[in-house]
Amino acid sequence: MIIVKTKEEIELMRQSALVVSKTLGMLAKETKEGVTTQQLDKLAEDFIRAQGALPGFLGLYDCPSTLLCSVNEAVVHGLPTDIPLKDGDIVSIDCGALMNGFYGDHAYTFEIGNVAPETKKLVQITKESLYEGIRAFKLGNRVGDVGYAIQNYCEAQGYGVVRELVGHGLGRKMHEDPEMPNYGRRGRGKKFIDGMVVAIEPMINGGTHKVRQLKDGWTIVTQDGKPSVHFEHDIALIDGKPEILSTFDYVHEALGITSDEELEFKNHVPNLN
Ligand code: MG
Ligand code: MG
Repeated sequence: MIIVKTKEEIELMRQSALVVSKTLGMLAKETKEGVTTQQLDKLAEDFIRAQGALPGFLGLYDCPSTLLCSVNEAVVHGLPTDIPLKDGDIVSIDCGALMNGFYGDHAYTFEIGNVAPETKKLVQITKESLYEGIRAFKLGNRVGDVGYAIQNYCEAQGYGVVRELVGHGLGRKMHEDPEMPNYGRRGRGKKFIDGMVVAIEPMINGGTHKVRQLKDGWTIVTQDGKPSVHFEHDIALIDGKPEILSTFDYVHEALGITSDEELEFKNHVPNLN
């Protein structure tokens, strides 16, 4: 059952999302060659607590960390390690925060130094596909429309769309109805309703869509060892239109990115702030 939020609750959810946005912005400056994801995890936990929030993942489903850091062929759910990041790596950092009873949950894939052109393209296309999905999150559409938009965009490039892991409704629980797959058929699945909040999170592989889990019981990796990319935003459906509650602005400021899909999205959708 989809749990609809009031406008006041959506404002609280925006605050939770922004805690994560700011955390990712802080991490953007620290995520570089030689740093370990365990070091990033500690920084993130301290940063989230300093904002009066709680790490959203820590302890949830027995998760041992604040961040999930997925390097190169890792898709999602990578546990922080003591292995230093190296030139040419990509690392998807997924982060959650709990504040005022509501969760924020979003993710960004960072490039370390000189990343291979084909991997850079995978990062860019996956990021763009997130906004393709968000544009399809509107009144009159259904879950399958968002999945179709992401799948169609990424498969056109020959990429693999992960099936086993999906986006989700978000609220007082990290995972609420509906499931939001990154694949689907137009016009299929649950109808979108005003006041719902979802996490849309394309997980796109450079090769096959097939994945496997490592023996740590957490980390999901591509079966063919090719890189995988993950971006995630929290979005509310307000007056029939998608409104992104989280923002990559802090990351982009840290990385010196001055124009991107999020800006374009905001400029082309009226009534968004
Ligand atoms: Mg997430
Ligand atoms: Mg999520």
